[in-house]
Amino acid sequence: MTFESLGLSPALLRALADNSYTTPTPIQLQAIPLALAGHDLLGGAQTGTGKTAAFGLPLLQRLANSDKPATGPRKPRALILVPTRELAVQVADSIRSYSKYLRLNVTTIFGGAGMGPQVDNLRRGVDILVATPGRLIDHMERGSAKLDAVEILVLDEADRMLDMGFLPAMKRILARVPAQRQTLLFSATFESQIKQLAMEFMRNPQQVQVSEQNAIASTITHRVHPVDGSRKRDLLIDILTKRHGDQVLIFGKTKHGCNRLAEQLETAGLPAVAIHGNKSQAQRQKALNQFKSGKARILVATDVAARGLDIPNLPLVINHDLPMVAEDYIHRIGRTGRNGMQGEALSLVSSEEAGLLRQIQRLLKTDVVMDVVEGFSPKNPLRMDGPMPPINRGGHQRPGGNSAPRKPSHRPHGKPADRSAHAHAGQKPYRGAAAKPGAARRDSRA
Ligand code: AMP
Repeated sequence: MTFESLGLSPALLRALADNSYTTPTPIQLQAIPLALAGHDLLGGAQTGTGKTAAFGLPLLQRLANSDKPATGPRKPRALILVPTRELAVQVADSIRSYSKYLRLNVTTIFGGAGMGPQVDNLRRGVDILVATPGRLIDHMERGSAKLDAVEILVLDEADRMLDMGFLPAMKRILARVPAQRQTLLFSATFESQIKQLAMEFMRNPQQVQVSEQNAIASTITHRVHPVDGSRKRDLLIDILTKRHGDQVLIFGKTKHGCNRLAEQLETAGLPAVAIHGNKSQAQRQKALNQFKSGKARILVATDVAARGLDIPNLPLVINHDLPMVAEDYIHRIGRTGRNGMQGEALSLVSSEEAGLLRQIQRLLKTDVVMDVVEGFSPKNPLRMDGPMPPINRGGHQRPGGNSAPRKPSHRPHGKPADRSAHAHAGQKPYRGAAAKPGAARRDSRA
Protein backbone atom coordinates (compact mmCIF):
# COMPACT_ATOMS: atom_id res chain seq x y z
CA MET A 1 0.00 0.00 0.00
CA THR A 2 1.24 3.46 -0.86
CA PHE A 3 0.25 6.95 0.21
CA GLU A 4 -0.92 7.59 -3.38
CA SER A 5 -3.48 4.83 -3.08
CA LEU A 6 -4.97 6.50 0.00
CA GLY A 7 -6.11 9.42 -2.10
CA LEU A 8 -3.74 12.10 -0.82
CA SER A 9 -3.03 15.17 -2.90
CA PRO A 10 0.24 15.71 -4.82
CA ALA A 11 1.28 18.51 -2.42
CA LEU A 12 1.04 16.16 0.55
CA LEU A 13 2.70 13.28 -1.32
CA ARG A 14 5.62 15.53 -2.12
CA ALA A 15 6.02 16.53 1.52
CA LEU A 16 5.86 12.87 2.59
CA ALA A 17 8.57 12.01 0.08
CA ASP A 18 10.68 14.83 1.55
CA ASN A 19 10.16 13.21 4.97
CA SER A 20 11.21 9.84 3.50
CA TYR A 21 7.87 8.27 4.35
CA THR A 22 7.39 5.57 1.76
CA THR A 23 4.79 3.26 3.28
CA PRO A 24 1.81 4.20 5.43
CA THR A 25 1.79 2.74 8.94
CA PRO A 26 -1.20 0.56 9.95
CA ILE A 27 -3.02 3.40 11.71
CA GLN A 28 -2.46 5.66 8.69
CA LEU A 29 -3.81 2.98 6.34
CA GLN A 30 -6.98 2.69 8.34
CA ALA A 31 -7.57 6.27 9.40
CA ILE A 32 -6.67 8.34 6.34
CA PRO A 33 -9.38 7.12 3.90
CA LEU A 34 -12.11 7.36 6.58
CA ALA A 35 -11.05 10.81 7.71
CA LEU A 36 -10.76 12.02 4.11
CA ALA A 37 -14.33 10.84 3.59
CA GLY A 38 -15.39 13.12 6.45
CA HIS A 39 -16.13 10.53 9.13
CA ASP A 40 -15.62 11.13 12.82
CA LEU A 41 -12.91 8.79 14.05
CA LEU A 42 -12.04 7.06 17.28
CA GLY A 43 -8.41 6.04 16.84
CA GLY A 44 -6.74 3.56 19.15
CA ALA A 45 -3.09 4.42 18.79
CA GLN A 46 -0.27 5.81 20.82
CA THR A 47 2.80 7.84 20.07
CA GLY A 48 5.19 5.99 17.81
CA THR A 49 2.52 4.49 15.57
CA GLY A 50 2.43 7.40 13.13
CA LYS A 51 -0.84 8.74 14.51
CA THR A 52 0.07 12.39 13.91
CA ALA A 53 0.15 11.84 10.16
CA ALA A 54 -2.95 9.62 10.47
CA PHE A 55 -4.99 12.64 11.53
CA GLY A 56 -2.73 15.38 10.17
CA LEU A 57 -2.72 14.38 6.52
CA PRO A 58 -6.51 14.14 6.02
CA LEU A 59 -6.95 17.28 8.10
CA LEU A 60 -4.59 19.20 5.82
CA GLN A 61 -6.16 17.85 2.67
CA ARG A 62 -9.66 18.77 3.81
CA LEU A 63 -8.59 22.27 4.81
CA ALA A 64 -6.68 22.80 1.57
CA ASN A 65 -9.77 21.78 -0.38
CA SER A 66 -12.25 23.92 1.51
CA ASP A 67 -12.60 27.67 1.01
CA LYS A 68 -10.84 30.15 3.23
CA PRO A 69 -12.52 33.44 4.09
CA ALA A 70 -11.54 36.00 1.48
CA THR A 71 -10.84 38.84 3.88
CA GLY A 72 -9.91 39.49 7.47
CA PRO A 73 -7.56 37.59 9.76
CA ARG A 74 -8.18 33.89 9.58
CA LYS A 75 -9.73 32.11 12.51
CA PRO A 76 -8.61 28.52 13.22
CA ARG A 77 -10.36 26.01 11.00
CA ALA A 78 -8.69 23.05 12.66
CA LEU A 79 -8.07 22.72 16.39
CA ILE A 80 -5.77 20.02 17.75
CA LEU A 81 -5.95 19.61 21.51
CA VAL A 82 -3.00 17.88 23.16
CA PRO A 83 -2.11 17.19 26.80
CA THR A 84 1.40 18.69 27.01
CA ARG A 85 3.49 21.48 25.61
CA GLU A 86 6.08 19.04 24.29
CA LEU A 87 3.43 17.22 22.33
CA ALA A 88 2.04 20.54 21.07
CA VAL A 89 5.46 21.50 19.71
CA GLN A 90 5.98 18.09 18.19
CA VAL A 91 2.56 17.83 16.57
CA ALA A 92 2.90 21.35 15.17
CA ASP A 93 6.35 20.51 13.77
CA SER A 94 4.98 17.40 12.07
CA ILE A 95 1.96 19.22 10.66
CA ARG A 96 4.22 22.01 9.37
CA SER A 97 6.43 19.50 7.63
CA TYR A 98 3.44 17.75 6.02
CA SER A 99 1.96 21.09 4.92
CA LYS A 100 5.13 22.58 3.51
CA TYR A 101 3.63 22.79 -0.01
CA LEU A 102 0.28 24.10 1.21
CA ARG A 103 -0.50 27.65 2.21
CA LEU A 104 -1.73 26.86 5.68
CA ASN A 105 -0.52 28.40 8.88
CA VAL A 106 0.09 26.40 12.07
CA THR A 107 0.25 28.02 15.51
CA THR A 108 0.81 26.53 18.97
CA ILE A 109 -0.49 27.79 22.28
CA PHE A 110 0.45 26.22 25.60
CA GLY A 111 1.04 27.15 29.21
CA GLY A 112 4.42 28.05 30.67
CA ALA A 113 5.12 30.49 27.84
CA GLY A 114 4.18 34.16 27.54
CA MET A 115 0.64 35.04 26.46
CA GLY A 116 1.78 38.03 24.38
CA PRO A 117 3.44 36.29 21.44
CA GLN A 118 0.60 33.76 21.35
CA VAL A 119 -1.98 36.56 21.22
CA ASP A 120 -0.01 38.20 18.40
CA ASN A 121 0.12 34.96 16.44
CA LEU A 122 -3.60 34.40 16.86
CA ARG A 123 -4.31 37.98 15.81
CA ARG A 124 -2.23 37.58 12.67
CA GLY A 125 -4.44 34.73 11.54
CA VAL A 126 -4.17 30.98 11.87
CA ASP A 127 -5.53 27.96 10.01
CA ILE A 128 -4.46 25.18 12.36
CA LEU A 129 -4.23 25.71 16.08
CA VAL A 130 -2.41 23.19 18.28
CA ALA A 131 -3.20 23.87 21.92
CA THR A 132 -3.16 22.52 25.44
CA PRO A 133 -6.60 22.84 27.03
CA GLY A 134 -5.76 25.10 29.98
CA ARG A 135 -4.02 27.79 27.96
CA LEU A 136 -6.67 27.65 25.26
CA ILE A 137 -9.30 28.44 27.90
CA ASP A 138 -7.20 31.46 28.96
CA HIS A 139 -7.20 32.70 25.36
CA MET A 140 -10.92 32.04 24.97
CA GLU A 141 -11.63 34.09 28.09
CA ARG A 142 -9.52 36.98 26.82
CA GLY A 143 -11.22 36.76 23.46
CA SER A 144 -7.94 36.10 21.67
CA ALA A 145 -8.93 32.61 20.48
CA LYS A 146 -12.14 32.32 18.50
CA LEU A 147 -13.31 28.81 17.82
CA ASP A 148 -16.46 29.49 15.79
CA ALA A 149 -14.78 28.69 12.47
CA VAL A 150 -13.41 25.28 13.51
CA GLU A 151 -14.28 22.61 10.97
CA ILE A 152 -12.07 19.82 12.27
CA LEU A 153 -11.34 19.07 15.90
CA VAL A 154 -8.65 16.60 16.97
CA LEU A 155 -8.35 15.31 20.52
CA ASP A 156 -4.87 13.81 20.63
CA GLU A 157 -3.90 11.52 23.52
CA ALA A 158 -7.37 12.01 24.92
CA ASP A 159 -6.77 9.48 27.68
CA ARG A 160 -3.80 11.48 28.88
CA MET A 161 -5.79 14.71 28.86
CA LEU A 162 -8.39 13.05 31.08
CA ASP A 163 -5.64 11.68 33.34
CA MET A 164 -4.37 15.21 33.75
CA GLY A 165 -7.78 16.46 34.86
CA PHE A 166 -8.54 18.38 31.67
CA LEU A 167 -12.08 17.04 31.25
CA PRO A 168 -13.85 20.24 32.40
CA ALA A 169 -11.60 22.35 30.14
CA MET A 170 -12.21 19.99 27.22
CA LYS A 171 -15.96 20.22 27.73
CA ARG A 172 -15.83 24.01 27.79
CA ILE A 173 -13.83 24.01 24.59
CA LEU A 174 -16.13 21.49 22.91
CA ALA A 175 -19.08 23.70 23.77
CA ARG A 176 -17.49 26.57 21.82
CA VAL A 177 -16.63 24.62 18.68
CA PRO A 178 -19.38 24.47 16.03
CA ALA A 179 -21.48 21.31 16.24
CA GLN A 180 -21.12 20.96 12.48
CA ARG A 181 -17.57 19.66 12.39
CA GLN A 182 -15.44 16.58 12.02
CA THR A 183 -14.02 15.16 15.25
CA LEU A 184 -11.02 12.85 15.40
CA LEU A 185 -10.18 11.39 18.80
CA PHE A 186 -6.95 9.49 19.40
CA SER A 187 -6.26 7.59 22.57
CA ALA A 188 -4.04 4.71 23.63
CA THR A 189 -6.85 3.39 25.81
CA PHE A 190 -10.62 3.48 25.74
CA GLU A 191 -11.67 3.89 29.33
CA SER A 192 -15.36 4.46 29.91
CA GLN A 193 -14.80 8.21 30.19
CA ILE A 194 -13.38 8.26 26.67
CA LYS A 195 -16.33 6.32 25.35
CA GLN A 196 -18.66 8.73 27.12
CA LEU A 197 -16.87 11.67 25.59
CA ALA A 198 -17.17 10.06 22.17
CA MET A 199 -20.89 9.40 22.62
CA GLU A 200 -21.54 12.94 23.76
CA PHE A 201 -19.43 14.84 21.27
CA MET A 202 -18.97 12.70 18.18
CA ARG A 203 -21.27 11.70 15.37
CA ASN A 204 -21.32 8.04 14.48
CA PRO A 205 -17.55 7.68 14.92
CA GLN A 206 -15.74 4.98 12.99
CA GLN A 207 -13.31 3.09 15.13
CA VAL A 208 -9.80 2.33 13.96
CA GLN A 209 -7.19 0.57 16.01
CA VAL A 210 -3.64 -0.49 15.44
CA SER A 211 -3.34 -4.20 15.95
CA GLU A 212 -2.42 -5.10 19.47
CA GLN A 213 0.93 -6.35 18.33
CA ASN A 214 1.84 -2.92 17.10
CA ALA A 215 1.01 -1.28 20.41
CA ILE A 216 4.45 -2.36 21.55
CA ALA A 217 7.07 -2.60 18.88
CA SER A 218 8.33 -6.13 18.43
CA THR A 219 11.75 -4.59 17.89
CA ILE A 220 12.14 -3.84 21.61
CA THR A 221 13.82 -6.25 24.03
CA HIS A 222 12.91 -5.91 27.68
CA ARG A 223 15.23 -6.79 30.53
CA VAL A 224 14.98 -6.39 34.27
CA HIS A 225 18.03 -5.96 36.50
CA PRO A 226 17.06 -6.86 40.06
CA VAL A 227 18.98 -4.59 42.45
CA ASP A 228 18.64 -3.10 45.91
CA GLY A 229 17.13 0.38 45.82
CA SER A 230 20.21 1.84 47.53
CA ARG A 231 22.46 0.54 44.73
CA LYS A 232 20.42 1.64 41.74
CA ARG A 233 22.50 4.73 41.12
CA ASP A 234 25.76 2.75 41.09
CA LEU A 235 24.27 0.15 38.78
CA LEU A 236 23.03 2.88 36.47
CA ILE A 237 26.49 4.43 36.34
CA ASP A 238 27.95 0.99 35.65
CA ILE A 239 25.56 0.41 32.74
CA LEU A 240 26.02 3.89 31.30
CA THR A 241 29.79 3.58 31.49
CA LYS A 242 29.73 0.22 29.71
CA ARG A 243 27.33 1.53 27.09
CA HIS A 244 29.28 4.68 26.35
CA GLY A 245 28.29 6.14 23.05
CA ASP A 246 24.64 5.06 23.16
CA GLN A 247 22.03 7.74 23.66
CA VAL A 248 19.89 6.91 26.67
CA LEU A 249 16.60 8.14 28.01
CA ILE A 250 16.28 7.47 31.74
CA PHE A 251 12.98 7.61 33.57
CA GLY A 252 12.78 8.67 37.18
CA LYS A 253 9.80 8.85 39.45
CA THR A 254 9.87 12.41 40.69
CA LYS A 255 11.05 15.80 39.49
CA HIS A 256 13.40 16.06 42.43
CA GLY A 257 14.70 12.53 41.83
CA CYS A 258 15.37 13.32 38.17
CA ASN A 259 17.30 16.45 39.02
CA ARG A 260 19.35 14.67 41.66
CA LEU A 261 20.07 11.76 39.35
CA ALA A 262 21.21 14.08 36.56
CA GLU A 263 23.55 15.81 39.03
CA GLN A 264 24.92 12.51 40.31
CA LEU A 265 25.57 11.28 36.79
CA GLU A 266 27.29 14.54 36.01
CA THR A 267 29.52 14.08 39.07
CA ALA A 268 30.34 10.56 37.87
CA GLY A 269 31.56 12.03 34.58
CA LEU A 270 28.37 11.24 32.66
CA PRO A 271 26.88 14.57 31.56
CA ALA A 272 23.09 14.39 31.66
CA VAL A 273 20.19 16.80 31.25
CA ALA A 274 16.89 16.56 33.09
CA ILE A 275 13.40 17.53 31.99
CA HIS A 276 10.31 17.65 34.13
CA GLY A 277 7.22 19.72 34.71
CA ASN A 278 8.93 22.20 37.05
CA LYS A 279 11.27 23.53 34.40
CA SER A 280 10.26 26.43 32.24
CA GLN A 281 9.24 25.74 28.68
CA ALA A 282 12.47 27.31 27.44
CA GLN A 283 14.58 25.10 29.74
CA ARG A 284 12.71 21.97 28.69
CA GLN A 285 12.96 22.80 25.03
CA LYS A 286 16.67 23.50 25.39
CA ALA A 287 17.25 20.14 27.10
CA LEU A 288 15.17 18.36 24.47
CA ASN A 289 17.01 20.04 21.63
CA GLN A 290 20.37 19.14 23.18
CA PHE A 291 19.26 15.53 23.40
CA LYS A 292 17.65 15.41 19.96
CA SER A 293 20.71 16.89 18.31
CA GLY A 294 22.91 14.36 20.11
CA LYS A 295 24.78 17.06 22.06
CA ALA A 296 23.50 15.51 25.27
CA ARG A 297 23.83 11.75 25.49
CA ILE A 298 21.73 11.21 28.58
CA LEU A 299 18.28 12.62 29.29
CA VAL A 300 16.56 12.03 32.62
CA ALA A 301 12.81 12.61 32.54
CA THR A 302 9.57 12.09 34.39
CA ASP A 303 6.71 10.32 32.63
CA VAL A 304 4.72 13.43 31.92
CA ALA A 305 7.65 15.48 30.66
CA ALA A 306 8.57 12.71 28.23
CA ARG A 307 5.10 12.37 26.73
CA GLY A 308 5.29 12.56 22.99
CA LEU A 309 9.06 12.85 23.05
CA ASP A 310 10.12 11.78 19.62
CA ILE A 311 13.75 10.88 19.09
CA PRO A 312 14.47 8.85 16.01
CA ASN A 313 16.77 5.89 16.56
CA LEU A 314 16.93 6.03 20.35
CA PRO A 315 18.52 2.66 21.20
CA LEU A 316 18.05 2.50 24.95
CA VAL A 317 15.48 3.42 27.59
CA ILE A 318 16.29 2.78 31.24
CA ASN A 319 13.71 2.75 33.99
CA HIS A 320 15.63 3.86 37.08
CA ASP A 321 12.30 3.41 38.85
CA LEU A 322 9.31 1.50 37.58
CA PRO A 323 6.30 3.65 36.79
CA MET A 324 3.51 3.61 39.36
CA VAL A 325 1.01 3.07 36.57
CA ALA A 326 1.65 -0.06 34.53
CA GLU A 327 0.56 1.54 31.26
CA ASP A 328 3.21 4.20 31.64
CA TYR A 329 5.75 1.43 31.07
CA ILE A 330 4.37 1.07 27.55
CA HIS A 331 4.51 4.81 26.97
CA ARG A 332 8.07 4.95 28.27
CA ILE A 333 9.51 2.15 26.19
CA GLY A 334 7.63 3.41 23.14
CA ARG A 335 10.44 5.99 22.82
CA THR A 336 12.75 3.27 21.52
CA GLY A 337 12.50 0.61 18.81
CA ARG A 338 10.78 3.00 16.43
CA ASN A 339 10.51 2.82 12.68
CA GLY A 340 11.75 -0.76 12.59
CA MET A 341 14.96 0.01 14.54
CA GLN A 342 16.09 -2.24 17.37
CA GLY A 343 15.53 -0.91 20.86
CA GLU A 344 16.23 -2.00 24.39
CA ALA A 345 14.33 -1.32 27.60
CA LEU A 346 16.19 -1.93 30.87
CA SER A 347 14.49 -1.66 34.23
CA LEU A 348 16.33 -1.45 37.55
CA VAL A 349 13.92 -3.10 39.94
CA SER A 350 14.18 -3.40 43.71
CA SER A 351 12.28 -5.91 45.80
CA GLU A 352 9.83 -3.19 46.83
CA GLU A 353 8.81 -2.86 43.20
CA ALA A 354 7.89 -6.53 42.71
CA GLY A 355 4.19 -5.72 42.69
CA LEU A 356 4.65 -3.03 40.06
CA LEU A 357 6.71 -5.37 37.90
CA ARG A 358 4.05 -8.06 38.12
CA GLN A 359 1.43 -5.57 37.00
CA ILE A 360 3.60 -4.63 34.04
CA GLN A 361 4.18 -8.25 33.09
CA ARG A 362 0.48 -8.84 33.30
CA LEU A 363 -0.23 -5.92 31.02
CA LEU A 364 2.46 -7.04 28.58
CA LYS A 365 1.14 -10.60 28.80
CA THR A 366 4.70 -11.83 28.99
CA ASP A 367 7.54 -12.33 31.44
CA VAL A 368 10.64 -10.26 30.93
CA VAL A 369 14.21 -11.47 31.21
CA MET A 370 15.63 -11.13 34.72
CA ASP A 371 19.33 -10.54 34.72
CA VAL A 372 21.32 -9.87 37.89
CA VAL A 373 24.36 -7.79 37.02
CA GLU A 374 27.57 -9.10 38.54
CA GLY A 375 28.45 -7.19 41.66
CA PHE A 376 24.88 -5.92 42.08
CA SER A 377 23.14 -9.02 43.39
CA PRO A 378 20.37 -7.69 45.63
CA LYS A 379 20.34 -8.40 49.36
CA ASN A 380 16.56 -8.48 49.09
CA PRO A 381 15.87 -10.54 45.99
CA LEU A 382 12.99 -9.78 43.72
CA ARG A 383 10.16 -12.24 44.32
CA MET A 384 7.79 -12.67 41.45
CA ASP A 385 5.51 -15.25 43.02
CA GLY A 386 2.46 -14.45 45.09
CA PRO A 387 -0.99 -13.38 44.01
CA MET A 388 -1.30 -11.30 40.86
CA PRO A 389 -2.17 -7.72 41.75
CA PRO A 390 -4.85 -5.89 39.81
CA ILE A 391 -3.43 -3.67 37.09
CA ASN A 392 -3.29 -0.05 38.12
CA ARG A 393 -4.25 1.60 34.88
CA GLY A 394 -4.03 5.07 36.30
CA GLY A 395 -6.90 6.77 34.52
CA HIS A 396 -9.89 5.48 36.40
CA GLN A 397 -8.20 5.31 39.78
CA ARG A 398 -7.91 9.02 39.80
CA PRO A 399 -10.07 10.63 42.46
CA GLY A 400 -11.74 13.89 41.51
CA GLY A 401 -11.03 13.58 37.81
CA ASN A 402 -13.48 16.33 37.07
CA SER A 403 -11.68 18.91 39.09
CA ALA A 404 -9.47 21.67 37.78
CA PRO A 405 -6.47 20.62 35.74
CA ARG A 406 -3.70 19.45 37.96
CA LYS A 407 -0.07 19.86 37.32
CA PRO A 408 0.96 16.71 35.49
CA SER A 409 3.45 15.70 38.12
CA HIS A 410 0.74 15.73 40.75
CA ARG A 411 -1.23 13.05 39.04
CA PRO A 412 -2.00 10.74 41.93
CA HIS A 413 -1.32 7.10 41.46
CA GLY A 414 -3.02 4.29 43.29
CA LYS A 415 -0.46 2.22 45.12
CA PRO A 416 -0.27 -1.39 44.11
CA ALA A 417 -2.07 -3.55 46.58
CA ASP A 418 0.93 -5.62 47.52
CA ARG A 419 3.76 -3.15 47.37
CA SER A 420 6.77 -4.60 49.23
CA ALA A 421 4.74 -7.61 50.33
CA HIS A 422 6.89 -10.06 48.45
CA ALA A 423 10.39 -9.07 49.30
CA HIS A 424 11.95 -12.17 50.76
CA ALA A 425 15.60 -12.67 51.45
CA GLY A 426 17.58 -15.64 50.28
CA GLN A 427 15.87 -16.31 46.99
CA LYS A 428 17.97 -17.11 43.94
CA PRO A 429 17.55 -14.65 41.08
CA TYR A 430 14.89 -15.86 38.73
CA ARG A 431 15.16 -15.85 34.97
CA GLY A 432 11.79 -15.59 33.34
CA ALA A 433 10.94 -16.30 29.73
CA ALA A 434 12.31 -13.78 27.28
CA ALA A 435 9.87 -11.20 26.00
CA LYS A 436 8.78 -12.64 22.70
CA PRO A 437 8.71 -10.29 19.76
CA GLY A 438 5.19 -9.16 19.35
CA ALA A 439 3.98 -11.06 22.38
CA ALA A 440 3.76 -7.91 24.38
CA ARG A 441 0.36 -6.43 23.96
CA ARG A 442 -1.99 -4.21 25.78
CA ASP A 443 -5.35 -5.40 26.94
CA SER A 444 -8.04 -4.65 24.47
CA ARG A 445 -10.52 -2.40 26.13
CA ALA A 446 -11.94 -0.80 23.06
P1 AMP B 1 3.88 9.60 15.82
O1 AMP B 1 3.25 8.32 16.31
O2 AMP B 1 2.95 10.41 15.02
O3 AMP B 1 4.51 10.34 16.96
O4 AMP B 1 5.06 9.20 14.82
C1 AMP B 1 6.19 8.48 15.24
C2 AMP B 1 7.36 8.64 14.31
O5 AMP B 1 7.15 7.94 13.10
C3 AMP B 1 7.66 10.08 13.90
O6 AMP B 1 9.07 10.23 13.94
C4 AMP B 1 7.16 10.18 12.49
O7 AMP B 1 7.89 11.15 11.77
C5 AMP B 1 7.41 8.80 11.97
N1 AMP B 1 6.48 8.36 10.92
C6 AMP B 1 5.13 8.53 10.89
N2 AMP B 1 4.60 7.95 9.80
C7 AMP B 1 5.62 7.39 9.11
C8 AMP B 1 5.70 6.65 7.89
N3 AMP B 1 4.62 6.35 7.19
N4 AMP B 1 6.93 6.25 7.49
C9 AMP B 1 8.03 6.53 8.23
N5 AMP B 1 8.03 7.22 9.39
C10 AMP B 1 6.84 7.65 9.83
